Amino acid sequence: MALVGIDLGTTNSLISVFTDDGPQLIKNGVGAFLTPSVVGVNDTGDIIVGDAAKYRLVTHPDKTVARFKRAMGTAKTHKVGKKDYKAEELSALVLRALKADAEAELGVPVESAIISVPAYFNDIQRKATYAAGKMAGLKVERLINEPTAAALAYGLNTKDDENTFLVIDLGGGTFDVSILEIFDGVMEVRSSAGDAFLGGEDFTTAVEDNFLEQLGKTRDKVKPKELGRLRDLANKAKLGLSEKPDITVKYLDGTKEVELTLTREKFEKLTEKLQSRMRMPLQRAISDAGLRSSDIERIILVGGATRMPVIRAMVTRLLKKFPEHSLDPDEVIALGTGVQAGLLARHEALEDIVMTDVCPFTLGTDIAREVGPNQYESGYFQPIIERNTVIPASRVVRNSTIRPGQDHVSISVYQGESPRVEDNVPLGDLKVWFPKEKDKHQDFDIRFTYDVSGVLEVLVTVISTGKTEQLILEGNPGSLSQADIAKRLKELDKLKIHPKDVAENAAIINRLKAAYENHLGDIRNAIEHNLVQFEAVLAKQNDTDIKLARESVIKFLDDLDAMDVF
Ligand code: AMP
Repeated sequence: MALVGIDLGTTNSLISVFTDDGPQLIKNGVGAFLTPSVVGVNDTGDIIVGDAAKYRLVTHPDKTVARFKRAMGTAKTHKVGKKDYKAEELSALVLRALKADAEAELGVPVESAIISVPAYFNDIQRKATYAAGKMAGLKVERLINEPTAAALAYGLNTKDDENTFLVIDLGGGTFDVSILEIFDGVMEVRSSAGDAFLGGEDFTTAVEDNFLEQLGKTRDKVKPKELGRLRDLANKAKLGLSEKPDITVKYLDGTKEVELTLTREKFEKLTEKLQSRMRMPLQRAISDAGLRSSDIERIILVGGATRMPVIRAMVTRLLKKFPEHSLDPDEVIALGTGVQAGLLARHEALEDIVMTDVCPFTLGTDIAREVGPNQYESGYFQPIIERNTVIPASRVVRNSTIRPGQDHVSISVYQGESPRVEDNVPLGDLKVWFPKEKDKHQDFDIRFTYDVSGVLEVLVTVISTGKTEQLILEGNPGSLSQADIAKRLKELDKLKIHPKDVAENAAIINRLKAAYENHLGDIRNAIEHNLVQFEAVLAKQNDTDIKLARESVIKFLDDLDAMDVF
């Protein structure tokens, strides 16, 4: 029985396993590490996956499908021969092929897997990935964000360092940026951003558009088969431009052979819009992590499309640092899923690496906002665990009833980034009853506790009575038993103490307050400033930030004490 790591990519998929020599990729039936994420039916009506299907993309476009990962979690179906398939069903076929390859290589059944997903996959897309695993006969132990996996692959070499990494992952269909920090052997994702609809394939489309222009044709007038051939040439030209400054390909237009030429310079111009779409997530990931671009110590490139010189130049220009790519950009994520598999199996070689993850989306509730005197409007989103919070995390907010004498509230839980709940994804509801007290408003705390297994606990406490109501939302219903959920929640209990109440932090606050009493003037102002800042950090409930703030305040207080002596 083996646990494997799988990179389920838009263009290619890979499978790996953790061994005594570290993560190892497993070859498929044709002896390659990369299995094209392509599914088709052959002439006898049998399903074919990988290279066999890829070669028929051009000759049998109606019986072959690729790039379906983009439709993951949607109702969209893809026609393959006579049948329609959803993206998760097609993904399951790819997973099944990888599983069979691994079983042939390892000689043992493969029953469970870690699967990587783009950091920006929402809950629905993640559930679809779980479902794909299940259909392929795999127990999906955990989903891992692609950039996290990549950094984990690189992190192995640098576990003794303290580093701030930026991982840029431009795959076939998705773009992800993540900022990670490694200190004391702990790897932490500080932020992630991206664009789920931007990838190397868009660069191919830009070339394809240019080729159509060179041929004087419009896309809608070209037959699917011809378009398939043209796309193949566009892709060849794109790959060629990663090696040399210009490229010429030959297209058979009817009986006439036409030469299509492209230079790197022209390619850079044609893809300007795509490049500028990459800049925004890059800047957002840096600012979400509370950093400046000069704080980034290393930039790691992942995904086949980062081989394009235009991308490397753009990144170097923007961040004023050369990106590194010592591992094969197509293999990094799969190697990282292998490391994660090793971590999960508690492999000896990995004992001193701990990894934390971030919540890729904001979790919160609906709330009514005061829009005028005694006038409320419902449907606003109240974020509780914000996007990019390090998980596991527990956050609490205090709310009050709007009307005096109100005897209950209905709380709806949402995931998303929109200020209006109607644009976010509803996850569940919970009703809370209050004692009937005329003319009185009721206060209640809403606590969200969330961890990597995708379990979200919503706990509402009525302040006047201490009564609680609990709602458990599972990211992947049915994957955990009731006993597992209870165990996870118990482990998370220690997170529920507000940082302010942790003895160490409480001691610092008391020390600051005592110092305030003992000083006057500018020093008193400086102490007050420290107190306000420290309490603000505590209110954000982020362990890493609290640790850093605590060190800085202790240094300030120690300096103050030293000053008092002389
Ligand atoms: P992935 O999903 O990481 O396998 O990404 C594959 C994408 O990278 C596809 O769009 C490929 O065309 C692209 N790609 C792979 N190698 C190169 C290369 N040498 N130059 C440009 N693009 C590449």
